[in-house]
Amino acid sequence: KKHVLIIGAGGVAQVTAHKCAQNNDILGDLHIASRTREKCEAILASVAEKGSMKQEGVFKAHGLDARDTAAVAALIRETGAQIVINVAQPFVNMPVLEACIETGAAYMDTAIHEDPGKICETPPWYANYEWQRRDRCAEAGVTAILGVGFDPGVVNAFARHGIDAYVPEVEAIDIVDINAGSHGRWFSTNFDPEINFREFTGTVYSWQNGAWQSNKMFEIGKEWDLPVVGKQKAYMTGHDEVHSLAANYPQADVRFWMGFGDHYINVFNVLNNLGLLSEQPVTTAEGLEVVPLKVVKAVLPDPSSLAPDYTGKTCIGTRVRGKKDGQAAEVFVYNIADHKDAYNEVGSQGISYTAGVPPVAAAMLIADGTWDTGTMVNVEELDPKPFFEILDRIGLPTRVKDANGDRAWNA
Ligand code: NDP
Repeated sequence: KKHVLIIGAGGVAQVTAHKCAQNNDILGDLHIASRTREKCEAILASVAEKGSMKQEGVFKAHGLDARDTAAVAALIRETGAQIVINVAQPFVNMPVLEACIETGAAYMDTAIHEDPGKICETPPWYANYEWQRRDRCAEAGVTAILGVGFDPGVVNAFARHGIDAYVPEVEAIDIVDINAGSHGRWFSTNFDPEINFREFTGTVYSWQNGAWQSNKMFEIGKEWDLPVVGKQKAYMTGHDEVHSLAANYPQADVRFWMGFGDHYINVFNVLNNLGLLSEQPVTTAEGLEVVPLKVVKAVLPDPSSLAPDYTGKTCIGTRVRGKKDGQAAEVFVYNIADHKDAYNEVGSQGISYTAGVPPVAAAMLIADGTWDTGTMVNVEELDPKPFFEILDRIGLPTRVKDANGDRAWNA
């Protein structure tokens, strides 16, 4: 058993907390810490209400400013946490990782580190912060699993599995993220608006023909025909996993595609063209200094409030193309998740669910030693099979579709 500290108390943390509770026989004592302690208490109340604790055990709430490495290290020591699941805003990733290196606790996150003042840094993004600490993790024997949500995360494991099992001579890796659900609001982002918009205001980087290519957001669109959700338009988008997969499979083209409706694109373009998605402060006539993006976040719905009315499904997967034994080969490795099922189980919408479950599967694999590497890794560097086995059991089953049909990954 290994004790766990969850950092953050947003939509994703709510799911992670429930899933840790459901598996506390393997994980041991549980703690959750965030900037606003009351949000942690509310998550614990929801865990109690749904009876999520598998067996009697500790689950405590703490207030924490995770930008403060010393404070994070002190809390790790106080709680005896051996695994830290960081699902706070990605601005705190490096301070939390530093605290893990200092204390020896295993580290996980679900998004690349971001500097609040910088939008879109030079590729590969992981080399700007995370990989600079790779040697220190190895020296300290600290396990750090980067980007272990759904995308990045499970889709990296999908890529590894697609290559290992179906397409050994990989030529192209395309990650496709379609949310075919409906939240019923006039406009909302599905997770933290600040992070969501920051993903789309920068350059769209892809790895093609052995080099980084730059495009603008919504410049390159493509219709995909996918299991369950059918034909869907998706746009090439910058995303974390492109930056690690391109380093691990430089011989392949690596692209990320996200589905957007015309309404989202329209609202995004208006906000962006007006300057309302800027992270640079402006001063009003009254002398008030405000960050436009923070104001937009403040007036939009809280993504976790979408959960009760959210219906429909998500389809997120990785298409791998190339050759096997000299013949053309292709496979789509994917998962279907349902917004309503997620709400009924843990009180969250499907996007938070798909992001919040995988780090718990990874924590279980660290607890039993399978993924306790003592080094820093991206998910595609790990054996995906034990990960899929746990994900199958705890709510995110993996499927494959190829010329031989559509089936469970291990059928
Ligand atoms: P939310 O905005 O709902 O939650 C973020 C949480 O972080 C809040 O509870 C916030 O506290 C807390 N926080 C922010 N700064 C600090 C700080 N300095 N110290 C302590 N806590 C802090 O976001 P989500 O739950 O939707 O997303 C969480 C993370 O998951 C993000 O990094 C996001 O990018 C990532 N994500 C990854 C996905 C994947 O598939 N890989 C998909 C979706 C999200 P407060 O409540 O006080 O503001």
